[in-house]
Amino acid sequence: MRRSPRPEGLRSKDISFGPKRSRRWGFLHKKSQTLIQLLEATSTVTFVVAENAKIDIRSLQLQEIEKAVLEFGEPLYRARQIVDWLYQKRVRSFDEMTDLPRKSRNRLAEQFNFSKIDIVRVLGSRDTTRKFLFRLSDGNLIESVLIPASPALYGSRSDRRTICVSTQVGCAYGCKFCASGLEGFSRNLKPNEIVDQIIAIERENGEKIDNIVFMGMGEPLANLENLLRAIKIINAPWGLGIGARHITVSTSGLAPQIRELAEEPLQIRLAISMHGATDEVRGQIMPINRRYNVETLLSACDYYAERKKQRLTFEYILIEGVNDSDEQARLLGRRAKRLSAKVNLIPYNTVHGLPWSRPSKDRQEKFLSILRERGVAATLRREKGHDIDAACGQLRLQTKRELEAASS
Ligand code: SAH
Ligand code: SF4
Repeated sequence: MRRSPRPEGLRSKDISFGPKRSRRWGFLHKKSQTLIQLLEATSTVTFVVAENAKIDIRSLQLQEIEKAVLEFGEPLYRARQIVDWLYQKRVRSFDEMTDLPRKSRNRLAEQFNFSKIDIVRVLGSRDTTRKFLFRLSDGNLIESVLIPASPALYGSRSDRRTICVSTQVGCAYGCKFCASGLEGFSRNLKPNEIVDQIIAIERENGEKIDNIVFMGMGEPLANLENLLRAIKIINAPWGLGIGARHITVSTSGLAPQIRELAEEPLQIRLAISMHGATDEVRGQIMPINRRYNVETLLSACDYYAERKKQRLTFEYILIEGVNDSDEQARLLGRRAKRLSAKVNLIPYNTVHGLPWSRPSKDRQEKFLSILRERGVAATLRREKGHDIDAACGQLRLQTKRELEAASS
């Protein structure tokens, strides 16, 4: 099974408790040494350290921060204070952690990064879908979408505030209809850059978010390690405290990583970007289908659904004249029945520069009715946000093009 590539600039290293141990931990109070042994005995923590740059403090799990503070020779409760400043009080620098001794704050700043993401553009008004364009600390642009009251599509109540989060800068998978893939792939997002999208939007919007969908820019399962780190922080009671059942990961169909995800204890939801019921149709618009065809994908989905005892969701964009025939609807219905999956139909959002469009309302309804006649739980997203180009990747693309035009 192929593991997802190691995140850029990071390497994992198990903290060694070999012969050097007494030297390394000798300076610690005896009680702290016992705590280290306890932590060591109860977990197999992989400590991620930066190779070129310091790791961001908000990429770490509580246990890793605990290890770090013990290593500093500080009491274990310091770690709780730190995560409280990070995720409850939501400070933006170590300096603001005012109940930590100055020495601790300095040590944290020496050891860890505390990067920021800045909102550079917002589209949409407060009571509608809003799009946020962020600049990362290295200047790259990403975007997230806030949907104020999403329909009950992913097992959530209908009054939930949902954020559609990005996991990569660009995307390498090049689906023919998608704005995110148009300019190729730049890099994986780090865990803190994933978590920060939620924190920044909550801060800007002044409301607590209760539903997360990984349907922004990028392929989440191609950045699996960082994605899981971020999800654990989003889910943890010491972190953002959002329930796993209110977190949905969408994938274009990376079959091996779907199986890998099935081994994770977290009960997050999985959505599959199906967009075609046969290899012929799916392969035309999604190059990934050449690597993992419909049958390979479905068998990975079978495995996931069985292992997690969970109903998956098939996302299906309706594109006029491409995948919206009655025959595709019938076959999609058959595939969905096999897995007891729900189907979420999404009328295509036009992307500037791409030739595709959404079918007529009648065609959309017909497609839906074929699925429902077969007993498939299907919804048609009569979505908000079409007017502000809600499909992810478009605001970034538009901004990049405007900047290029302005500088030429
Ligand atoms: N890479 C992952 C997650 C990001 S894309 C995936 O492909 O699943 C999130 C969803 O938006 C996918 O279902 C994708 O197919 C859909 N999407 C992309 N471009 C779209 C567009 N122009 N109109 C409607 N949905 C689109
Ligand atoms: Fe990438 Fe998903 Fe867009 Fe395909 S649909 S190009 S996988 S972001």
